[in-house]
Amino acid sequence: MTEQTGTATLVRPDAAPGLGCEADAIVTVPLTEERAFAYWQQDIPAEYWALDAAQLTQRVAEARRTLGTRLIILGHHYQREDIIAFADYRGDSFKLARWAAEHGESEYIVFCGVHFMAEAADILSQPHQKVILPNMAAGCSMADMADPDDVYNAWAELEELGIAQDTLPVTYMNSAASLKAFVGERGGAVCTSSNATKVLEWAFAQKKRVLFFPDQHLGRNTGYKMGVPLEQMVLWGWARPYGSMGGRTLDELQQSRIILWAGHCSVHQRFTPQQIAEARQRYPDITVIVHPECRFETVQAADLNGSTEFIARTIGEAPAGSKFAVGTEINLVSRLAKENPDKVVFCLDPVVCPCSTMYRVHPAYLAWVLDSLVEGRVVNQIVVPDEVRGPAKLALDRMLAIP
Ligand code: SF4
Repeated sequence: MTEQTGTATLVRPDAAPGLGCEADAIVTVPLTEERAFAYWQQDIPAEYWALDAAQLTQRVAEARRTLGTRLIILGHHYQREDIIAFADYRGDSFKLARWAAEHGESEYIVFCGVHFMAEAADILSQPHQKVILPNMAAGCSMADMADPDDVYNAWAELEELGIAQDTLPVTYMNSAASLKAFVGERGGAVCTSSNATKVLEWAFAQKKRVLFFPDQHLGRNTGYKMGVPLEQMVLWGWARPYGSMGGRTLDELQQSRIILWAGHCSVHQRFTPQQIAEARQRYPDITVIVHPECRFETVQAADLNGSTEFIARTIGEAPAGSKFAVGTEINLVSRLAKENPDKVVFCLDPVVCPCSTMYRVHPAYLAWVLDSLVEGRVVNQIVVPDEVRGPAKLALDRMLAIP
């Protein structure tokens, strides 16, 4: 278990003046003082709105003590420090999904992350376990770019065009459970940024082509790394009307190896080759490491790219004195900087914000869901309907079975 601090501080690394995150220090303030409070989950009892950091820490700690081993708290790497402080286990979406599949001990899994992650945990967990998302408004803007109806329509068009028969659908973990089920029913699998290459290799062993959604950048970066030419990865414009072939020609679709959904992560899209050039100018011996949700040209300009687990491991294992400019969510970069004081670690984007939806899991929500469990009430439970769970689990199990 990690130590509880109750506060979060986002520190600009002194070792990299002007290149670190310029965001103001983030400290735990009462929920009502959070800037976006008006847009967050509304039905949390008013008694939690004004609790300060110390009161929240005390509430969470007491509830944890009472619930003991009946409770496990999972924390995604992008969660704020004042949430990670309470996490029993932290990781990226792949690691946390695997954890949920392998551990049936705890009655309650409180998933501090975003909605699609809690859905995946519910699908993979045991029937007696209940998965709880502290704030129901914690979604993912990338996942929202793949509206299930848009995906069904795209597939129907591909069927009409005779393209679907030699295409396997693959969905990034960042998608609704219903889309994981859609993929599962069609022989496809889920992937994460940790295993995208392996999943695409597995897919290409079965079909000529992959429909990859929702993140075009992960799909393109992974395909390119595997040797798929850029011209054989075509972008499907999901906002176009039915019948317009996603803005492609029939020939482009027929020649393609990967049809990329036109979705993206608003956090990772912010990192640019220009930022990398500036980092290199200031530190000629810098290693630039970015997440594959970044744009193609950014990944090409970087030295290394990989999942959050890869980024954390690479920095953690580097010798003292190493320097890293990092292109991923700022809460993780800030934590890596603090955990590696003998290295220079800073965020590539001088004004990058935290992922706004991950950030919505404020400690007041965590205190509320835990207090409710102590009182015998389960609030904010994520329940994937049975008709979705089966085929979605198929797609997740296929992913987990790929060595
Ligand atoms: S960082 Fe991007 S992909 Fe991850 S949850 Fe936030 S919006 Fe979604």
